Amino acid sequence: MDFDFKRLIRVIPDFPQPGILFKDITTLLKDGRAFRAAIDALVEAVRPLRPEVIVGPEARGFAIGAPIAYALGVGFVPVRKPGKLPAETVSVTYEKEYGPDDLAVHRDAFPPGTRVLVADDLLATGGTIGATVELVHRLDGEVVGAVFLIELTYLGGRAALEQKIAPAPIVTLIRF
Ligand code: 5GP
Repeated sequence: MDFDFKRLIRVIPDFPQPGILFKDITTLLKDGRAFRAAIDALVEAVRPLRPEVIVGPEARGFAIGAPIAYALGVGFVPVRKPGKLPAETVSVTYEKEYGPDDLAVHRDAFPPGTRVLVADDLLATGGTIGATVELVHRLDGEVVGAVFLIELTYLGGRAALEQKIAPAPIVTLIRF
């Protein structure tokens, strides 16, 4: 199966800031055959990691993480901005380009020792997924891998994430 996934990612200049080339995944998501083929490819790549739960940050991490979880028959745990999750949470602060930001997860999301796969749409600097990994560690989960639809290879996210999860692998489908 050789789908040209990259062709289905729309690149938008100067969004959300001047100088940024934003990778728009909505053009792939709305194509049913491509969306299924992309998720299927990611599912087969991560299946050997035997995750027991997928953890993904809002909002686009849900669009990638939830279908992978469904296909594997494991649970999906949302990571959200503070104030969005209804039960007791654990939160972390991390540095974004223009100052600090927070992410949170339910304290009872999974039991200690659970094999966790973290998932998002895109790996850029690795800040968002790094904070997600930290939340998993706070709950004493074991990160068995990280999966992304897209990797921006020029921003150093892979090296930063490797420092946090190695030897667990980083799986990506489309690289820019
Ligand atoms: P990082 O934290 O690795 O620097 O940035 C990745 C996070 O920001 C992901 O949660 C992703 O959704 C969002 N993001 C950053 N740049 C882009 C982009 O060009 N396209 C999309 N779809 N998401 C982006």
